[in-house]
Amino acid sequence: MSTLIDDFPVLTPVTDEDLAFAVRAVRTHVPESWPEGELCRSERVPYPCRLARWGRATLAAAGLPEAEVEADAAAVDRLACEAGA
Ligand SMILES: [Zn+2]
Repeated sequence: MSTLIDDFPVLTPVTDEDLAFAVRAVRTHVPESWPEGELCRSERVPYPCRLARWGRATLAAAGLPEAEVEADAAAVDRLACEAGA
């Protein structure tokens, strides 16, 4: 299987650095509606892209539900701050 389509590995326990990257990835790699369907706003590839999937998986591994991240931007900013981003 090609490494190009493999997902990024989710390393546990999730480090603060990875958590900050994951938060940024989830907020940057968001779906955008195009005639051809939903594409990643950052990369223009079918959504969810690899980084969006990795970000969500990493947040989940850290015990942070994705819904919580989307619903509470302030909490995300606080997390990103704590993680040194
Ligand atoms: Zn993307």
